[in-house]
Amino acid sequence: MAVKKIFWENPYLTEIETKVTNVDNDIITLDKTIAFAFSGGQQSDSGTIGGYEIVKAEKYDKEIFYTIQPNHNLRLNDDVIVKIDWEKRYRLMRLHFAAELVLETVYQNYNHPEKIGANITADKARVDFYWNGKISEILPELMDGINNLIMSNLDIISDFSDRDNEIRYWQIEGFAKVPCGGTHIRKTGEIGLISLKRNNLGSGKERIEIYLQS
Ligand SMILES: [Zn+2]
Repeated sequence: MAVKKIFWENPYLTEIETKVTNVDNDIITLDKTIAFAFSGGQQSDSGTIGGYEIVKAEKYDKEIFYTIQPNHNLRLNDDVIVKIDWEKRYRLMRLHFAAELVLETVYQNYNHPEKIGANITADKARVDFYWNGKISEILPELMDGINNLIMSNLDIISDFSDRDNEIRYWQIEGFAKVPCGGTHIRKTGEIGLISLKRNNLGSGKERIEIYLQS
C-alpha cells in the first residue's frame, strides 16, 4: 500500500497525524502524508516527522521515502505527527502556479516553443525554452497577460484524470487543462503580482525567471 498523498486532497494542511509503515535505518515510509517529494520541478517540502527533520524526500512509483535525521527512535506502527514548513510550501505553490501560467500563455500565444526545463524554488521559478532571438521582447506583454489572469482571481480545479495510476491535472475553465502532479493553489489571485526576467543561456536557449512581487 502506497502512502496516501493528502497534499493533493488538501494542499493547505500544515500538520497531520499518521503512522510509520516501514523503517529502514534513516529511511521511513508513512501511511499518509502532507510532505511533498520533489516532482515536476517542484522542490520537496521541509518539515519534520515525529519531531525529526526530513533530510530528503524521494518518490519512487507511488511510494514516498523520507530520509530523516539519523539516530531517531521511530519504530514500525508508531503514531507520528508530520509538520511542514508552510511559509516555504506556500511560496513554492504560488511560484509553481505562476510558472504554469507562464508556460501555458507562452504555448498558446507564441507558437508552442519547445520547453527544455523548469525549476521551482521558494525564491523564484524558471522555465527554459528553445527560442529564436531574445525572449525579453515578449516579456512586457507576457507579464501583463499573466498579471491579468492573477488579478481576475480565477478558480483552479485540481483532480485525478486517472486515480489508479495517480495521474493529476489542473484546469482553469476556458483557459487550459494541464497534466501535473504538483500541489496547486485554488485561486490565481493567491499568487499576487509577478515580475519576469530574461536570462540568455546561449545556443538558442532562453530562460524566463519568475519572481513574486510580494
Ligand atoms: Zn502544476
